[in-house]
Amino acid sequence: MEHHSAQLIACHDCDLLQREIPLKKGCTASCRRCGAVLYRNATDSIDRTLAFTLAAAVLFVIANLFPIFAIEIQESGSEINLFGAVQSLWDKQMHSVSLLVFLTTILIPALELITMTYLLLPLKFRSVPAGSHLLLGMLKIVKPWGMIEVLMLGVLVSLVKLTSSFKVIPGIALWSFAALTLLLAAAAATFSARDVWERMDSRSDREVAA
Ligand SMILES: [Zn+2]
Repeated sequence: MEHHSAQLIACHDCDLLQREIPLKKGCTASCRRCGAVLYRNATDSIDRTLAFTLAAAVLFVIANLFPIFAIEIQESGSEINLFGAVQSLWDKQMHSVSLLVFLTTILIPALELITMTYLLLPLKFRSVPAGSHLLLGMLKIVKPWGMIEVLMLGVLVSLVKLTSSFKVIPGIALWSFAALTLLLAAAAATFSARDVWERMDSRSDREVAA
C-alpha cells in the first residue's frame, strides 16, 4: 500500500494531529487519544443523503401547500398554513418576526434543499456541478439558520394551548413537518462534506489528467 494519502488530520475534540490511513468500506477511523470519530469510509453517503434530501423536498412542498391545522370556532372554521401565518404576522405590523419566520422556515430550508439536490445529483452520476466549491461553503454558513425543528416545537406548543379553547384539527402539513424534521436530521447525519470534497477532487484530478 503506497502512502500517498498520508495527510494530517486534527481531531476535532482534542486537536491531536494524526496521519490519515485508507479505510475499508464501512469502517471508521477514531482518534488515537480520545476515541472521537475522525472520518468514515461510507461510500454511499452521497446516495443516502440525496435520497433523504429528495424525500424532504417533496414533504417540504406538501408542508407549505397544505394547512398545518384548522380551528373550528362555533360554526365557521379557519385554516392556517405557514405562509398564511407569515402574512398575518406582517399584516399585524410584526414585520421583523414575520421576516424571521419566513427566512428560517421557508426561504433557507428551500435554498438548502435546492442546493443539496443541485450538488448531490450530479455527484451521484460522477460529474461536478458548476460553482460547487462556492455552494458547499455557502451551505455551511446558511445551514444553522434553517429552523424547521424549532418551528415544529412552536407549532406543537401552540396546538396544545389552542386545544384548551378551540376544536383543533391537525392538517396534512403538520404530519409533513413532523416527517420533514426527521428527514432533515437524517440528511444532516448522513451528509459528509469530506466525501463530497473527495469525489469532487477525484473528478477534477481526472479531468486535468485527461
Ligand atoms: Zn481526539
